[in-house]
Amino acid sequence: MTTSGSNDYATFRRALRRCAPSLVRPLPWIEHPDPWAVLVSEVMLQQTQVSRVVGPWSRFVEAFATPTACANAPLSSVLRLWAGLGYHRRAKALHDAARMIRDEFAGVVPRETSQLRRLPGVGEYTANAVASFAFKERVAVVDTNVARVLARALANRPLSAPEARAMSQRLLGRGESASFNQAMLDLGAQFCRSVPLCASCPVARVCRWRLEGGADPAPRSAGVSRPQSRFEGSDRQVRGRILAQLRGSSLSTAALLARLDGAEPARCRLVLDGLIRDGLVERRGRGVQLAGS
Ligand code: SF4
Repeated sequence: MTTSGSNDYATFRRALRRCAPSLVRPLPWIEHPDPWAVLVSEVMLQQTQVSRVVGPWSRFVEAFATPTACANAPLSSVLRLWAGLGYHRRAKALHDAARMIRDEFAGVVPRETSQLRRLPGVGEYTANAVASFAFKERVAVVDTNVARVLARALANRPLSAPEARAMSQRLLGRGESASFNQAMLDLGAQFCRSVPLCASCPVARVCRWRLEGGADPAPRSAGVSRPQSRFEGSDRQVRGRILAQLRGSSLSTAALLARLDGAEPARCRLVLDGLIRDGLVERRGRGVQLAGS
């Protein structure tokens, strides 16, 4: 088994630092790294592409400039601002996190990763991203994009989660870490994708997989996400349609089902029950409405 030596790390680090300015994307949460705004962006980015996050993120932080403003608002207002992002459980988790920040952290987003990880909906990746981008803490940020870069460019073999964590932390070196983390994310998102764009990749010259060949190590590495299941015709799509209908007003169950034409009523009832169990929708009399309306 081959391992990466310190020279490999230094060479890759230099190559990435050199091309980092050309990778930068003009994202508003990078230009204004307020901790709350960064936390909101990272929760939204967990399962949604950057291009779909920019608009909802801007509306969200304009409506709720602080965690306390979000915590004091009803969940229904948060769900309305989540339109277009999908995976609505994240909206409830973010609302719950805002309440915890208000009640346990005096309204201030904590900077320690151990405290950040206590917040609902915040796992290792999100905690490290907030600590790095908002507070300039020296922690590596490893999402699916970075995990692909590590497995291909540095290791040229599949990596376990602890290996990827140790490798990324070692790769940070002594220089500025937030911009380095951002460059890794940008490289993965723009070039080292599931189907990589090696011919135009700015670090191809120092990439082990490119130089040594072999089977692509990324798909078998920990932290590299598999393709999402089809959205069209899925329960996720029905959930989105139900929530979209309820964003306008509460509806009787019969009226709601009538508006979901094309979807089978029995299935819609099951999906609706799931939304109620998740705390996103509530019954009121004979009707249903967004939770906390
Ligand atoms: S050369 Fe290809 S595999 Fe290597 S880092 Fe660039 S895009 Fe990824």
